[in-house]
Amino acid sequence: MSSEHFRAFVLDTTEAGLSRGIQTLSRQDLPDGDVLVAIDYSGLNYKDGLAITGTGKIVLTWPMVPGIDFVGRVVESSSDRFKNGDSVICTGWAVGEKYWGGYSQFQRVKSDWLVPLPSSLTARDAMLLGTAGLTAMLCVSALEDGGVLPEQGPVIVTGAAGGVGSIAISLLAQRGYSVTAVTGRLEEEAYLRSLGATDIISRDEMSEPARPLEKQRWAGGIDTVGGNILARILAEAQYGATLAACGLAASHTLPTTVMPFILRNVRLQGIDSVNCPTPTRIAAWTALASNLPSNLEQTLHKTIGLEELELSAHAIINGVVRGRILVNPNL
Ligand code: NDP
Repeated sequence: MSSEHFRAFVLDTTEAGLSRGIQTLSRQDLPDGDVLVAIDYSGLNYKDGLAITGTGKIVLTWPMVPGIDFVGRVVESSSDRFKNGDSVICTGWAVGEKYWGGYSQFQRVKSDWLVPLPSSLTARDAMLLGTAGLTAMLCVSALEDGGVLPEQGPVIVTGAAGGVGSIAISLLAQRGYSVTAVTGRLEEEAYLRSLGATDIISRDEMSEPARPLEKQRWAGGIDTVGGNILARILAEAQYGATLAACGLAASHTLPTTVMPFILRNVRLQGIDSVNCPTPTRIAAWTALASNLPSNLEQTLHKTIGLEELELSAHAIINGVVRGRILVNPNL
């Protein structure tokens, strides 16, 4: 297919409900923007799963080309920041929610949403990391900013076999932290240990409602699930611990008390990758590129084309995806 006509996965609302499918588009169909990108890879994130299955109210304008992240090469630009041939990464900024996203062979976006692909990173590795890797790196930086040191004790990671969780384990282990992984899939123990986890705890054990304060265990934590699990981590946090909260795969609630904060000096840092300022993103991508985990490849669940998006979206919402799904719109 020529670059004038190309394939994209399109969601729309109809009287019969949500429609999904691959359509042939032309450049004129694409939204306004100052940079046209030929997309090499996108990723399948939890939020993309919600959008495609219609499980959550993610999509804000219709029709929508979903895909909250992508990497590719600039083929047209009226921006001072990027020229033809530059490799760029796009994550967040409501792309795939309000603005058309990565499940297309071409996309036109605002240059403000793009960061340069670091020269030491391949396009494939950039999307193997994707929004999940950026978010995991922002979480790790929050722990470092909070003064959490490897010798202070174990750091806990929840939703461990998911995208953010897998990469967070790998990044923490590489930095010398002793990582405890919380998972609902104990059968993934070997995988989690291969990423660098030293201990595995079941999701059920961590979901037990906690007292306001429990025995101190965690020097730090990265939570992707919320709810009772985050509440228990707070109650078990060591004096002076820093925890980073980025997700709600279990629940958007947080049934806790102020006790960990006022008696144990615990810091709970929220993490947002969507509206994260560009200098912070560039710093995170630079940190990822300069110290890429050697076991990153193990986080690849599989690479799919646009045809497999619907099936894979159900899989990620059902919690059966291990690590990351790469989407190659050119397959
Ligand atoms: P994944 O689906 O890849 O991973 C989520 C993991 O959470 C699952 O693999 C599973 O891990 C665990 N999980 C699933 N359901 C439940 C449940 N009911 N109770 C407890 N644990 C559960 O998603 P991502 O890694 O892409 O995203 C994780 C979370 O982080 C999502 O909520 C997502 O929206 C959020 N997120 C936030 C970002 C931000 O900017 N703040 C950016 C990216 C993601 P296991 O089987 O090991 O238990």
